Amino acid sequence: MSTTVLVSSCLLGLATRYDGSDNRCAALIDYLQRQDLIPIPVCPEQLAGLPTPRPKCWFTAGTGVEVIAGEGKLGNEQGDDLSNSFRQGAEQSLKLALLTNCQLAILKQRSPSCGSREVHQNGRIVLGMGVTAALLAQHGIELLSEEEL
Ligand code: SF4
Repeated sequence: MSTTVLVSSCLLGLATRYDGSDNRCAALIDYLQRQDLIPIPVCPEQLAGLPTPRPKCWFTAGTGVEVIAGEGKLGNEQGDDLSNSFRQGAEQSLKLALLTNCQLAILKQRSPSCGSREVHQNGRIVLGMGVTAALLAQHGIELLSEEEL
């Protein structure tokens, strides 16, 4: 039986990025085929109801773990606080992962939702997870990025 894996939609070629483009990753698509994995596409920011295209977002305090705990913040280039939206997107993504029995997620590195090792914070790249990546990890879902395949 094939195994399901949650995958950032933009890596599969869907135009879900903030700027309306995608991050299609041929190595990932090849990996999914070789491993006989069924991808479950997810874009946490679209699930949160944010538009596409949308203003660029980054952490203004803490990273994903702190945003989930209500101690961090995430904003966009217009100065809006989007911490609640990103938490909602993470919760919807977790629901989808649990419904489809995903024990692994392959997520776009450095995204404020999907980054699993690095994210943008106030113009710098820092160690930390995006909001969705952090919530999935807290629920025992293994994380990989497209850079580790
Ligand atoms: Fe891709 Fe994740 Fe950003 Fe959506 S939130 S565009 S899936 S990196």
